[in-house]
Formats: sequence, C-alpha cells, structure tokens
Amino acid sequence: MEKLIDDYELELCEVDCVPGAPLYSAKAHIPGDVSEVMPYLNSVLDRAFYSGDNEFIVWKNRERKFVLRPHELAASLIMDRPEARRVIGEAVTWINDIWDRRGGMTPDHEKRIPPQPLEVLKHLPGSNCASCGLATCMAFAFELIEGNKRLDDCPGLLEEENYGAREKLEVLGL
Ligand code: SF4
Repeated sequence: MEKLIDDYELELCEVDCVPGAPLYSAKAHIPGDVSEVMPYLNSVLDRAFYSGDNEFIVWKNRERKFVLRPHELAASLIMDRPEARRVIGEAVTWINDIWDRRGGMTPDHEKRIPPQPLEVLKHLPGSNCASCGLATCMAFAFELIEGNKRLDDCPGLLEEENYGAREKLEVLGL
C-alpha cells in the first residue's frame, strides 16, 4: 500500500530564544499535500489544537510539540540531527498508520485553536524574573505556545501557591 508520507526533506532550525541551550526544532518538508489526514489525527488525539479546515493540527507527546501543516511536519525540543531523524521518523510512521486505518475511523472536524499569549500571560507569575532564560513572562508565554519552553522551565510554576495557575495552563493544552 502506498504511504501517505513516503518522502520528505529534513531541516534543523535553531531556536534563538534559548540562550546556552542547544535546542532546535525539526521540520520535515513534505512534497505531497497531507492535509486530509488531519481530521483522523484529531479523532485520536487528546486535546489537540485543530484549525477545523485542515490548515494545521498541533499536539503534544510528553513535552514535545508537533505541528502538521499540508506540506510540513515540525517537532520541538530537539537536541541534534540524530534525534530529529528519530522523532520525525516515528511521527511519520504514526501518521501513516492512522491514514492506513482511516476506513474504520470517524474523522473529527471540531475546531480547537491554541490560546493567545495574553491568555497564557495571566496565569504566569508575572515577576519577569528571567529564571526561564527569557527577559519577560510575555516572551515565555510566546515560547510556551510555540512549544519551545515547558511549564517546568518557570520555577515559579513549581511553587505551591501557583499550582492552580499551572493547572489552568495545562487545561489550555500547554
Ligand atoms: S521564570 Fe516564570 S516568572 Fe520568571 S520571567 Fe520566566 S515566566 Fe516569568
């Protein structure tokens, strides 16, 4: 059977926002249009962000964020090229498997969009202490949404008084 994704070009992109931390995002540039798989991915993923019109779908696997667009699959929190090859390869295998099984699945077209930075910001400690490696909580909010930072990167969110705020961020899918 012909695979949905059988060829792609891998690119490693620097994440400028993480000084001193050699983190990258990996991108697979896919020649064919793979957008039709998105509603099927949406049906099996828990709390994915889905555009509703096959423009993008975003999901997390542990702390790593994945974004699928019609001609691109991206993964965050990548240390080096071998990890990029492994992580993207595993995600491609999983997407191809979902596509092969789509005959027995019900596609889910329900739209769910990512939170806005200001919505995220109101649940952050707000001290702009820079312990996360970024100058402000607002910058952290952007990178959290992009998947380049984790909730654990903000020490304030590990303090008991902020457990409630952290829970709200988790509910937002962060
Ligand atoms: S560590 Fe937390 S409180 Fe400090 S700047 Fe970063 S997000 Fe804000």
